Amino acid sequence: MTDPLDLLALDSALDTEERQIRAVVRQVVDDRVRPSVADWYERGEVPVRDLAREFGRLGLLGMHLTGYGCAGASAVAYGLACLELEAGDSGVRSLVSVQGSLAMYAIWRYGSEEQKQRWLPAMTAGEAIGCFGLTEPDHGSDPASMATRARRDGDDWVLTGGKMWITNAPVAEVAVVWARAEEGVRGFVVPMDTPGVTAREIRRKMSLRASSTGEIVLDDVRLPADARLPGAEGLKAPLSCLTEARYGIVWGALGAARDCLATTLTYATTRTQFGRPLAGFQLTQAKLADMVVELQKGQLLALHLGRLADGAGVRPDQVSVGKLNNVREALAIARQCRTILGANGVSGEYPVMRHANNLESVLTYEGTSEIHQLVVGQRLTGLSAFA
Ligand SMILES: Cc1cc2nc3c(=O)[nH]c(=O)nc-3n(C[C@H](O)[C@H](O)[C@H](O)COP(=O)(O)OP(=O)(O)OC[C@H]3O[C@@H](n4cnc5c(N)ncnc54)[C@H](O)[C@@H]3O)c2cc1C
Repeated sequence: MTDPLDLLALDSALDTEERQIRAVVRQVVDDRVRPSVADWYERGEVPVRDLAREFGRLGLLGMHLTGYGCAGASAVAYGLACLELEAGDSGVRSLVSVQGSLAMYAIWRYGSEEQKQRWLPAMTAGEAIGCFGLTEPDHGSDPASMATRARRDGDDWVLTGGKMWITNAPVAEVAVVWARAEEGVRGFVVPMDTPGVTAREIRRKMSLRASSTGEIVLDDVRLPADARLPGAEGLKAPLSCLTEARYGIVWGALGAARDCLATTLTYATTRTQFGRPLAGFQLTQAKLADMVVELQKGQLLALHLGRLADGAGVRPDQVSVGKLNNVREALAIARQCRTILGANGVSGEYPVMRHANNLESVLTYEGTSEIHQLVVGQRLTGLSAFA
């Protein structure tokens, strides 16, 4: 089936396996997400566990990782999956990103063999949900200033502090928690039922409502020596996990944009004012043309970064270019689509405002736009404006 929004025939740049993976994810989104997501969003509740098991069965959790039951898919295939998931809802894509690219990746890359064996097979199956605790109430863009502390007590570690805005925290079995020890930032694998750990759902979000977000309180949490991720030393470890997750966002945000544009195209060709379809007005066509140009430019950028990742490798600042551009443009597309839908644009009967609201979170998490501008600025000038 040819996608009417694929003006540049970018599909021809994908191989058969990539298209097959995309088709499978598109189908599960059509079957399991689209029929219910407006309700989940309105109620601020999402069946995380059911979705995780279903995504686990399809091999979507940690799909770009190898071993321990992970699918070992290419970066491009993973990106396409993120795009299709986010065409359903950014919250649903966040579930998969946080599980695979943050929590699982941290354990896969920096964990001991024992930690990997204990957690990764269950996480890839969706039987155990993971979260990633870096942000704190007083430290977001500047995680180097984190206040959460890890101190040695005999062989044990004791963690004290708090993490804020943590996706999946209220439903997770395990958290990867970043804390400052005497020797620097270290990562810990923390079962959520450890005494002293509490997680509370953050209510009244106006964005990403089909996603569970929480606060984690760590009150003298005693962990055995082997809870530490042995390979993770310094802030570069959590930042490398963020690069993984940001890569998924480069693709994912375009899914939300594509869904807005597809909805709007249908709406504009069927809704009549002044005796003709909205799509027949030059001003509407100018909007549609500009949006499809940005969508396809974003897709080219995502595909290029994906091919780099599957080949020579992709640098963090290159991923920043993708996150900065694609989320910014996706949000602009969602807002513009909303204007074409008029009053219906603010209704939950259409997905457009839900996507626009979700993209506000996507713009902020995994490094705000400003932080990615600073990363790119540093690459260009050799001068760090923020550290
Ligand atoms: C729904 C949701 C889910 C999230 N999930 C997770 C998660 O799973 N795990 C996790 O660890 N975190 C998570 N986060 C947190 C997210 O990563 C942070 O919100 C983000 O890093 C920004 O931090 P902040 O909100 O504290 O904003 P701040 O850092 O306070 O920034 C506020 C504003 O100031 C700007 N700013 C800050 N510093 C500079 C500077 N040097 N120069 C110019 N401008 C600057 C920012 O760009 C921003 O516009 C989530 C957030 C949301 C909204």
